Amino acid sequence: MLLLIKKERKSSFLQRQSLEYCNPQHTHMITLFYENDNIFTQDTYDKIIDQLDFLTLECPSCKHSGCLIKHAKYPRTFRMANSIITVHILRVLCKECGHTHAILLCDFVPYSQILLDDQVDILTSNNDEEFLSDNPNFDLSDIRYIRKQYNLYWKQRLLSRSIS
Ligand SMILES: [Zn+2]
Repeated sequence: MLLLIKKERKSSFLQRQSLEYCNPQHTHMITLFYENDNIFTQDTYDKIIDQLDFLTLECPSCKHSGCLIKHAKYPRTFRMANSIITVHILRVLCKECGHTHAILLCDFVPYSQILLDDQVDILTSNNDEEFLSDNPNFDLSDIRYIRKQYNLYWKQRLLSRSIS
């Protein structure tokens, strides 16, 4: 749902610190919404985490606040138009209930190596050939897969919320 909404560009960096929680397929995630106009890198991710006020973070499992501590990191690879990067994602542990949660950014689409903005570009592109020549790290199977996922899981949700 929210993951397919383009980032808002007007609010200042983490000003709203709006946190949305989603738990698709049993994986607990905390998604941070923020503004970033730079190319996405590990540094981008780390700076956002550094500015995060952990005392205000609520555990998606037990709903307690101020109980999440840094626990571990795991690597995740992203393919962008002209680069492939691996970002080490922070996992936090809830001292109250013992669950762990990955701290994700609104740029991410769960279980995908392709960032949200690129997925939106794919979905709105009318010319696959031109798109692929501009984005050499993607191929036709990516386009087909993203369109299929959109039609299977997101289109109806967006329509029902009148967002599309
Ligand atoms: Zn908890």
